Amino acid sequence: MSEPLLQVKQLNKAFGALQATRDVSLDLYPGEIHALIGPNGAGKSTLISQITGNLPPDSGEILLQGEDITGLTVAERAQRGLGRSFQISSLADELSVRRNVMIAVQAIQGSSFRFWKPVSSDASLLEPVATILERLGLSDRAGTLVAELSHGERRLVEMACALALQPRALLLDEPMAGMGSEGTARMVKLLSELKHEVPILLIEHDMDAVFQLADRVSVLVSGGVLAQGTADEIRNHPAVREAYLGE
Ligand code: ADP
Ligand code: MG
Repeated sequence: MSEPLLQVKQLNKAFGALQATRDVSLDLYPGEIHALIGPNGAGKSTLISQITGNLPPDSGEILLQGEDITGLTVAERAQRGLGRSFQISSLADELSVRRNVMIAVQAIQGSSFRFWKPVSSDASLLEPVATILERLGLSDRAGTLVAELSHGERRLVEMACALALQPRALLLDEPMAGMGSEGTARMVKLLSELKHEVPILLIEHDMDAVFQLADRVSVLVSGGVLAQGTADEIRNHPAVREAYLGE
């Protein structure tokens, strides 16, 4: 097997007396979707925030392509290729789809003076942004205000913002939440294509989508890893079926 692109080692995070993540370790390999599942409050979003740098871990290490990024800022991690979409919408409603994606690129380029480089001009971004919007089936919405989009379209624009940064690894926190069956099917198809270009750590509640998409699965319960394995191993894991799938 190739080297893992992203390695998470023994991450811990407590909020007061609550241990939100407990010695969580996982790897993300090129070409795969690694699903992170578990009941509400299991610590899934906390783990993603520790990986992106939004929450400092109490202990543990995060390596991206072998480099220890645990001490880096959110912007420095993003510049090294850690991409994420958010569970809560982070788009500017009053701006167009195209403008939102451009801002995402420019923000990350200009967000750290230690790695300062000139922020790309609007003109130089038009073509790459158009390519991404086409990829996501949003070309005819490029000039539309985000406020006028459906929920599913908004989620796709959030994906476009993440992809515009050309991430090496993508962290997705419930990208299908609130989508209808059509939107979910569209997202499943997109992610199954995307994983060949950029591996994905995917938090998802929809178990049909998880087992359609995931190569490997980690099950988080009460902050700790209950089980980890291939999708088939997890589907047939007795403790997982009991503790999580409700059987
Ligand atoms: P999940 O994404 O698996 O539903 P979270 O990572 O959001 O779970 O939350 C894990 C636990 O940590 C929950 O009990 C939640 O209430 C708690 N928690 C999350 N963020 C904070 C915070 N900023 N302050 C205090 N407690 C938090
Ligand atoms: Mg969550």
